[in-house]
Amino acid sequence: MSTFAAPKGTFDLLPPRGEAFLAVREAIAAPLRRAGYGYVETPAFEETALFARGVGESTDIVTKEMYSFETRGGDQVTLRPEGTAGVLRAVLEHHLDKGGLPVKLWYSGSYYRYERPQKGRYRHFSQVGAEALGTEDPLVDAELVVLAMEAYRALGLTRVRLLLNSLGSAQSRPAYRDALQAHLATADLDPETRRRAEINPLRVLDDKRPELADLIASAPLLQDFLSADDRAHHDAVRTALADAGVEWEDAPRLVRGLDYYTRTTFEFVHDGLGAQSAVGGGGRYDGLAESIGGPRLPGVGWALGVDRTVLALEAEGRALPGATPLDLFVVPLGEAARRRCAALVTGLRRAGVATDMAYDGRGVKGAMKAADRSGAAYAVILGDRDLEAGAAQVKHLASGEQTAVPLDDLVPHLVTLLENP
Ligand code: AMP
Repeated sequence: MSTFAAPKGTFDLLPPRGEAFLAVREAIAAPLRRAGYGYVETPAFEETALFARGVGESTDIVTKEMYSFETRGGDQVTLRPEGTAGVLRAVLEHHLDKGGLPVKLWYSGSYYRYERPQKGRYRHFSQVGAEALGTEDPLVDAELVVLAMEAYRALGLTRVRLLLNSLGSAQSRPAYRDALQAHLATADLDPETRRRAEINPLRVLDDKRPELADLIASAPLLQDFLSADDRAHHDAVRTALADAGVEWEDAPRLVRGLDYYTRTTFEFVHDGLGAQSAVGGGGRYDGLAESIGGPRLPGVGWALGVDRTVLALEAEGRALPGATPLDLFVVPLGEAARRRCAALVTGLRRAGVATDMAYDGRGVKGAMKAADRSGAAYAVILGDRDLEAGAAQVKHLASGEQTAVPLDDLVPHLVTLLENP
C-alpha cells in the first residue's frame, strides 16, 4: 500500500480532539449514573435476525445499511447499527427482567451503518445510549428526556431543541395505519415506496424527497387517532417535562428511522449542524421485546450521537474539552541523569503529578523545546554534574525563573509547588 487512508465514511480520532469525544461521553454518562442507570456492554455484532426483527424490515437501516456477513462457521451476523436491540437481547438472555423493575442501563460504543457519508453522517459512529425496561410509567419517559437535556446543558450547549411526538400504541396504530395507507394510495408512488407503504406506512412520513413533500404534509396525523390511554400517557409525559422546566416543540410528523417505537418519540436537534441536525433521539418501544421473540417487556430509551455532539460544540464556538495538561517535564542531561530521571518520573507520577520526560538522549536545546511544547508549567533539569551536587534545577517555563532543589526533597517540593504555584 503506497498511501494510508481510513475506509470511506470513517475517520480517525486523534489528540487533542479525541479528548473531546471522551469528555462528551463522560458528560452524557454523568446524569445517567446519578439516576441509577448501570453500565452495560454488549458485543459489536449480533445475529442478523435480531436487527432485522428488532429495527424493522421496512427501515433503511435494515434494507440498505447493515454490515452483514457470514462467519467462517456459517453464522449470519451484523455489525450493530444501533444499541437497543442488543441491550434488550442481553436483558432477556440474563433474565434481568425477572429482577427489580425497571431495569435501567446505559452504554457507550461504536455503531455501523452503510450510509452515504457527509458531514455528521458516518459509516462508523459513536453513541451513548440509555434504556429503562419493564416500565410503562410516563415519568420514566420524561426522566430520560430530562437526563439527556442535563447532559447537553452540562456541556454548555444552548441550541439543542427537543422535538416530541407520540406514535401511539397497538390501540391507536391500526386505525391510523388504515387512514395513512388510504391517503398514500391516492399518489402514484415508486415501487419501493409502495412496498414501504404496505409494510410500514409510517416510514413514508420520514421520506425527505421533495416530490413527496406535499403528500406527506397533507397526510392524516397520528395525534388525531390516539386512544384515550395513549393520549393520557402523552399528556403525562408533557406535564412531567413542563414540571422539570424542559421546553419542547410538538412534532406531529416525527417518526424516526427505526420501526420499534410506540407512544413517546423524541429527537434532539441542533440548528448549527446543517442537514444532519439530529444530535440524539429515542422513544418508547413497548412491543420490541415481543418482536424479537421475547415476553412483553415495555421500555423506553435514547441514543445520543457523540460525533454530532462534538460538531455541535464546535458550531457553538465552545472550546472543546482537551487533555489535562502536563504539570512537569523532566530533562536529563547525561547517562547517569537519565536513570535518576526515569526513577524520578515514576515517583512523581505515583504522587499524582502529570509528568513526561525527554527521551533518546536529547541535547539541552531539543529537550527544552520538547518541554515548552508539552504544555507543562515547570521543567526539572538534571545534568550529571547536578547529580553529583545532589540538586536539580526547577525551571518555571513561562518566566524562565530557575531554582536549585535538593534531590532528596524534590518530589515533595514539586508537589507543594504545583499545589501553590
Ligand atoms: P438513531 O439510532 O438513528 O436514532 O440515531 C441516534 C443518534 O445517533 C442520532 O441523533 C445521531 O446523533 C447519531 N447517528 C445516527 N446515525 C449516525 C451516523 N451515520 N453518523 C453519525 N451519527 C449518527
